[in-house]
Parts: sequence; structure tokens; C-alpha cells
Amino acid sequence: MPEEDVEQRLKAYEGRPAAVAGLAKDPVDAAMIRHWCEALGDTNPAYAGPDAIVPPAMLQVWTMGGLSGNSARTDAYEQLLSLLDELGCTAVVATDSEQEYVRPLRLGERVAFDSVIESVSGRKSTKLGWGYFVTTRTDVRGEDGELAGTHRFRILKYTPVESRPADTPAADSQAVDTPRRPRPVVNRDNSPFWQGIRDHRLLIQRCTRCTTLRLPWIPGCVECGSPDWDTVEADGEGTVYSYVVMHHPPFPAFDPPYAVALIQLAEGVRLVSNVIGVPYDKVRIGTPVTLEFHEYDEELTLPVFRAGEEPA
Ligand code: ZN
Repeated sequence: MPEEDVEQRLKAYEGRPAAVAGLAKDPVDAAMIRHWCEALGDTNPAYAGPDAIVPPAMLQVWTMGGLSGNSARTDAYEQLLSLLDELGCTAVVATDSEQEYVRPLRLGERVAFDSVIESVSGRKSTKLGWGYFVTTRTDVRGEDGELAGTHRFRILKYTPVESRPADTPAADSQAVDTPRRPRPVVNRDNSPFWQGIRDHRLLIQRCTRCTTLRLPWIPGCVECGSPDWDTVEADGEGTVYSYVVMHHPPFPAFDPPYAVALIQLAEGVRLVSNVIGVPYDKVRIGTPVTLEFHEYDEELTLPVFRAGEEPA
């Protein structure tokens, strides 16, 4: 099918409902607000007391269905996803979401919401593969039917690089290179940790007030709240505390099945890593392991753990 025809077929879904319109399962309530504020550390007084307004960022909370689910996708949305599957865009990744706040919700209001397919992009090339972005917009209304806010949610439906049909041109040259292992997200809070890894040292953060150790690195001590820290270097001995074997989904740069282990370091803290030196199906809880550093490519060094003798 010519690309213009494809895009025309996709564009025809714009404006159609994405989910059956719904009503919140429960009215806006103080307990939910309090839990949310405590979880996020938001102490704004406007969010407490009998005249409380709802924190705007809670907009989506009231539309969620919990484990028992919520309003179903419409046929239109299912058809759109099927069409994208037929085009070869069988993989999906959520890319971003965006909220707009129009008026605050108040205690006791029963929220109503409906969701439309707002836009379908033209064909795009990305590092994951080529595909189409689909944006759905949920309008959230208060009890009076007035718009309280909107929530946009964008996904990319794409052709995974490894399953691109042989006759399809590569979306971009980078996509056809052997996929590289994902990079760690390095930020101001954890960059000394990653510098340590590059220097082949596994550094554990230590609170200088109460000496509690922490890994992964975070800005404050969970025991005493102090932001002050220094480091201790792990001596490299540990055991497998728990593990899973990954079979599915297959990620580029990984070759399933493989074991992902939670390693208990001798110092008492844990980290997620790979166990090497044994087949994936021979990893066991309690297996003693020793730290090594593996250079995956010129930029990426990661700590890995070599299995020793199995426990008796
Ligand atoms: Zn502390």
C-alpha cells in the first residue's frame, strides 16, 4: 500500500473514541489525597482540611480502574492497533504523557471521563525502528460536567529492528547496527557511582550521620533523612539473593533466556546484575558470587557477578 494511503487510513481514526466513557469508581476523597501527598512529600496546605482542593497532578488517579479494570477500549481503537500490527508495527512503547489543568477538583466530586484518539502521526524513524505515534486524550470532568483537565498519552507502535522484513529499507542507519546495551541513566545524584564503575570500583553510599549504607544511590538517607554522605567500596563478595530468568519479551542487545539476579553484597546492600560463569538455568538463590567489571563497549562498563561453588 502506498504510504499516502496508509497515512490516510490512519488519519481516519483521529477524533474517534478510544475508550468507553466512564465514571470514577469512587468520589474524590481525603484519604486518597493524603496518601498521595505523603507518598510525594507534598505538604501544600491547600490539599488538606475540609476545603481542600485536589492536587492537580492527581488528575489521572480518579480515572483509574484498579486491578478490576475500567472502561474498555473502543472498537475504533482496537481496529487502529490491528491496522498498525498489519503494517508490521507490532511492538509498542509508551513515549510520554502530558496533562493540562483547567479547574481544581474538590472533595466529594464524582469524576467523569472520556477518551479520544487525538492524533496519529505520519511514519517516523526512531532508534527502536520505524512506526507511528498515537496520541489519545482523556478529558476529565467534574460533577458539573465542567472540564477539570486533560491527560494526553502517547505511544509509539513500531517495527522492532530485528523483525524488519528483509525487503523493507532501514529506517535509519543507526537502527541496523547491532543494538547496543541500554545506557544507564546518569544524573547528579548517581554520577559518582558510575564514575566508580568506570574505575572498576563498586561504591556504596554511606550516610555520614547514621552510617546507614544505601544502594542504589539516592539523595537522602531513608533512616535519618540526612543529605550528607560518603562512600565505602564493596569488597566484591556476595550471594544471589533472588533471581528471575528472562525469556520474554526479547529486548534488542539481550539474548534470552538469561538470568537477572538480585545480589546481596557482603556489606548488606543489594543490587540487580547479571550472573556470569554459569548457564542461566544453574543460577540459584544462595549461590556465592564475586564482583567483576565487564566492558560491553567503549563507553559502557557494568558490574557483573561470577558464580562460585554452589552452596551445599
Ligand atoms: Zn542516616
